[in-house]
Amino acid sequence: MLKDEEKKVLLTEEEMPRQWYNINPDLPEPLDPPLHPKTGKPLTPDDLSVLFPMSLIMQEVSMDRYIDIPEELLDIYKIWRPSPLVRASKLERFLDTPAKIYYKNESVSPAGSHKPNTAIAQAYYNKKEGVNKLTTETGAGQWGSALSFACSLLGIDLTVYMVRCSYDQKPYRKLMMKIWGAECIASPSDTTESGRAILEKDPNCPGSLGIAISEAVEVAAKSGGSIKYSLGSVLNHVLLHQTIVGLETKKQLEKIEVEPDILIGCVGGGSNFAGFAFPFVPDKQAGKDIRIIAVEPIACPTLTKGPFAYDYGDTAKMAPIAKMFTLGHDFVPQPIHAGGLRYHGMAPQLSLLVKENIIEAVALPQNPVFKASMDFANTEGIIPAPETAHAIKAVVDEALKCRETGEEKVIVFNFSGHGHFDLAAYDAYMNGELVDYAYPDDKIKESIKNLPKF
Ligand SMILES: *Cc1c(COP(=O)(O)O)cnc(C)c1O
Repeated sequence: MLKDEEKKVLLTEEEMPRQWYNINPDLPEPLDPPLHPKTGKPLTPDDLSVLFPMSLIMQEVSMDRYIDIPEELLDIYKIWRPSPLVRASKLERFLDTPAKIYYKNESVSPAGSHKPNTAIAQAYYNKKEGVNKLTTETGAGQWGSALSFACSLLGIDLTVYMVRCSYDQKPYRKLMMKIWGAECIASPSDTTESGRAILEKDPNCPGSLGIAISEAVEVAAKSGGSIKYSLGSVLNHVLLHQTIVGLETKKQLEKIEVEPDILIGCVGGGSNFAGFAFPFVPDKQAGKDIRIIAVEPIACPTLTKGPFAYDYGDTAKMAPIAKMFTLGHDFVPQPIHAGGLRYHGMAPQLSLLVKENIIEAVALPQNPVFKASMDFANTEGIIPAPETAHAIKAVVDEALKCRETGEEKVIVFNFSGHGHFDLAAYDAYMNGELVDYAYPDDKIKESIKNLPKF
């Protein structure tokens, strides 16, 4: 077999990266500082220390290009890392494309997605600074289950605010959290001021990530320091922890002497995509011809339709204000939409790279996305998470372009997670019940009027 004909490229534990890659020093310009939600002044580490342990705050602003991964953390990573890079040869044959398609399989983690890469790190640094209780929010339930798993291994209590419509639709993610010892509350809830305020206006509110974040942040902010808050995406330190994905992918491609032409990933808050793609950004900046494509749903078109502006991280305006692509903090997605890619904002580091045209963005409707996902399941076997399916549809589109032009491009994508707990969405697709809902432009205009004016 030729080197690049191998089905699976594996790394040994010895070959696993020992450091994360921090993109801060390689950004084309410095990030605009995050602002305090009440005063509009740049946030200080002290402001942030109400919510986060100091070691994570320091990672947030660090200008060191590489940051050591602690030994104890590496030991936990080894439960499922290094993850395999797999040649999607059967999908290639099905598409009759000369393109070579590879996927980095992050679905092999105990929670079934990339999310434990940062969950374990965040639980570790909190524990090290004496924090014994965390709060967080979860949309589709993947982050909540990933952090529950991490907190269980590191001995931390956890309360998860889960977006109401997912709480009702996804009993199994809820049960995973319970197995790993966490408490899971449907959001909006009557346990917080922000939740009660929303319920008063709309007792049947399906919830949103923005609302759930407000509830989790409120509990931590009012705890006087004993409870901290943990976020599964968007923040610099989260993206940093995820870079182990891209660093492994680079090593794996080097092993088979393959250079990528196109890198693809799906984006919600941007963490799996950034973790996968950021380690390749310096190569592109140095002149390598690589296209890096972020894929979002047309139901939540943050990068393709939103403005690049300062906005609140949550609905109740309690979380920091960040400069990012945003649909407005009062964005409430359609419950009909199956994917977990529903956050109104986008990671500031990723937003900046999209604004600077280093990274491209596309938005896709969900029916063709599920069609591509079904094709993947019936060729490569794994049933993708609906989020991951967005990346797959973009991969298929690029591979079909190669069929027309005859180009043998190398397409590598991040397989962010499996869809074993999203089968109801597949059922809806197979029954023809999914709607290709595009978020209306006038709604975006309306939301943008409410951006902070500092
Ligand atoms: C959470 C999640 C996403 C979206 O979040 P990002 O921070 O954008 O990565 C994508 N895929 C899967 C499987 C997820 O669980």
